[in-house]
Amino acid sequence: MNATAYIGLGSNLDNPQRQIEWALNALARLPQTDLEAAAPRYRSRAVGPGNQPDYINTAARLRTGLEPHSLLRELQALETARGRLRDQHWGPRTLDLDILLYDQLSLADPELTIPHPRLAERNFVLLPLHDLNPDLILPDGTALARLLAQADRTGIVRL
Ligand code: AMP
Repeated sequence: MNATAYIGLGSNLDNPQRQIEWALNALARLPQTDLEAAAPRYRSRAVGPGNQPDYINTAARLRTGLEPHSLLRELQALETARGRLRDQHWGPRTLDLDILLYDQLSLADPELTIPHPRLAERNFVLLPLHDLNPDLILPDGTALARLLAQADRTGIVRL
């Protein structure tokens, strides 16, 4: 168990609250991994095509011995287990799991970009991350609190 990873969770189909509950339980059972904390949940308006239902979003902090790519594969297996179809970019999804941060690692390869490339512009990521750790500093030195201070707060409510 030698890394702290922050995971973003989102769902807007098939009883999103239940999907998030299921995902948190599944994260707690990943190999070599402890679920240390889960943030409060938020309801956010969907970004993307068409008239989609609202999302439920949260974030979790893991302590893990999994390497970043192994962790990604585990998350993708959980998404698949919830019947997520990968056919529509930014379409509705039963479960979306993203690696937001992994210690102070900066990584960009074809499968994996850490920090998550859209972390800084998404209030539904910034808010629960800040709940988990208000003092977070991104690998480039940016304070999470500063990003949040600049973030648009429309379309999101804490549940
Ligand atoms: P999405 O449909 O938004 O969940 O994007 C899924 C794709 O994003 C996957 O094929 C991943 O390989 C890729 N990806 C890149 N960086 C990350 C990350 N930090 N966490 C999760 N998926 C990522």
